[in-house]
Amino acid sequence: MTATRNGATRICPVCGAIPTRALHVRDHRRILRCGCGLVLIDPLPSADAIAEREGEAFRGELMDETKEMFAAYGRNYRPDDPVVTAFQQHLATLGRLTPGRRLLDVGIGTGLLVHLARAAGWEASGVEICDEAAERARREFDIPVRTGDFAALDVAGGLDVITMADVLEHTHDPRAFLEAARERLKPGGVLYVAVPNHRSLVFLTADLLGRVPGGGVIADRLYVPNHYTYFTPATLTRLARDVGFEVAAVERENPYLGRYQMHPVIRAGLATLLAVSKATGLESRVVLFARRPI
Ligand SMILES: [Zn+2]
Repeated sequence: MTATRNGATRICPVCGAIPTRALHVRDHRRILRCGCGLVLIDPLPSADAIAEREGEAFRGELMDETKEMFAAYGRNYRPDDPVVTAFQQHLATLGRLTPGRRLLDVGIGTGLLVHLARAAGWEASGVEICDEAAERARREFDIPVRTGDFAALDVAGGLDVITMADVLEHTHDPRAFLEAARERLKPGGVLYVAVPNHRSLVFLTADLLGRVPGGGVIADRLYVPNHYTYFTPATLTRLARDVGFEVAAVERENPYLGRYQMHPVIRAGLATLLAVSKATGLESRVVLFARRPI
């Protein structure tokens, strides 16, 4: 790892510059903002350390609050759950953007998206880096999941759709990841990326509070240990275009708080922030639909 002039060890994967502005400095890591708007965790752990953390996160060692999520999005999921209906809406959008039905979900979570896609008539499968997550999804939903690194995956014949929900921010190299997606899509095929939106009221608030004395704990809660890159609608769009996609749509949405375990006061505060963010276009998630040109 070579330190650059200002101490940053990462080059921005969107614009190639060296980020110089520190938003927060926490113990062994810095949260830097590049001039293009991308926010990076520096230093970036090794690819092996990142893969290991994904396993820890899946086993619930990293984030207690996501345990219930894994339980809720198994085979007993509620059809009217907001996460379920949001996935179904996104699948409907994908169905309008391409006539093909061969879909690969990268980083499957519980396997719910692949399951919902198959129920809606897609020829859907998944690829997952974490053995335990892949095995659990196969067992839970009886869906085809390959284990391994997406960037090394051989997909004969090409794909009509590649989905990655809450994945890109976990990757070692987001640019290489999107390039791998483009190569695996047929011409006219569609990429779906959903990530946290850094240009959101929740992050703006946390960045302010995180800089007051004693507020660092708020930054630690939001900048979780296994997210390494924080996108905005603009930086995600720029990266997708730069690697050769045509951007079809960029949507913003809020997460469903119902499955997160948190203190009631924090939940009430977050719910208020999310309501205001919806009114101001500063929702906490960004969803991109982009097409490989024909
Ligand atoms: Zn940049």
